[in-house]
Amino acid sequence: MGAQYIDGKSIAAQLRAELKTEVQSLRDRGFQPKLAVVLVGDDPASVVYARSKEKAAANVGIEFELFTLPSDTAEAEVLQLIERLNGDEQIHGILVELPLPKHISKEKVMEAVHPLKDVDGVHPLNRGYVMAGQRGLVPATPLSCIELLERSGVEISGKRVAIVGRGETVGKPLIFLLLRRNATVTVCHTRTKDLAGETRRAEIIIAAAGKAGLVTRDMVAPGAIVIDAGINEGPDGSIVGDVCTADVAEVASFISPVPGGVGACTTVLLFRNVIQGLKMQKGLA
Ligand code: NAP
Repeated sequence: MGAQYIDGKSIAAQLRAELKTEVQSLRDRGFQPKLAVVLVGDDPASVVYARSKEKAAANVGIEFELFTLPSDTAEAEVLQLIERLNGDEQIHGILVELPLPKHISKEKVMEAVHPLKDVDGVHPLNRGYVMAGQRGLVPATPLSCIELLERSGVEISGKRVAIVGRGETVGKPLIFLLLRRNATVTVCHTRTKDLAGETRRAEIIIAAAGKAGLVTRDMVAPGAIVIDAGINEGPDGSIVGDVCTADVAEVASFISPVPGGVGACTTVLLFRNVIQGLKMQKGLA
């Protein structure tokens, strides 16, 4: 028996439908949610990402404005723009596309965005809230991993979960989201002595390492649930995850593939953060 594939696209469609309803009810109360995206430089991938968000935002009724600055813009000027967006009551979410040019401090920029508008969940205050289990804005990718599990009917409570990767964007926030749901969490990284042993003990494996082919069939216990959050370029230029999906699907019970899994839900969850931010800003939540 092969694993059941978790269909990220259909879960994204559910999330989108829920969000549209929520956006409509906010509009009915006189609030038009709006996301501002700041793009410094002309990194081609970032331009594509920003434009795809614009389309997706329109689809759920969220307004979108792109602020593009040349790559030689001074750090102070970027910070000034963020300050202006922080003070703009019509804007409820601010996202700064990465990577930034080398002369601009990513940390300073992340700290400059108002925590209630920090839809990427990268402000130190939001990171702290995740850790403390308090309400704040959480990065979309770890949220997507949780949504895929929960909406597939997987019980997280009491499960042994191995996260492969302790990155700031995915692995680390996941630790706290899983603990809050009463999982027993093991976090693996490049210094983990016996990665295969750790993953084999897990009932749920979440791969977030950014290394194609890292999770192989022999690393997965029969019946385990595998969520692949990795994004890598395959040998033929296609997008692949961290998991050898076809092989692992022969032993796992559920598997979320790349593409069509975690990545399919991240944009809609980013927009959900815009709505959450708006509600917190306006005292509606
Ligand atoms: P990151 O900061 O680069 O962290 C990668 C982590 O993986 C590190 O903790 C690293 O260990 C660990 N790692 C790398 N190779 C390993 C190996 N061979 N064995 C064990 N651990 C290993 O990455 P990130 O920003 O958290 O992102 C993780 C992945 O998620 C990337 O593929 C990224 O592209 C993807 N991602 C996906 C989405 C989406 O929408 N689906 C969004 C954002 C990111 P050390 O700490 O020891 O170096």
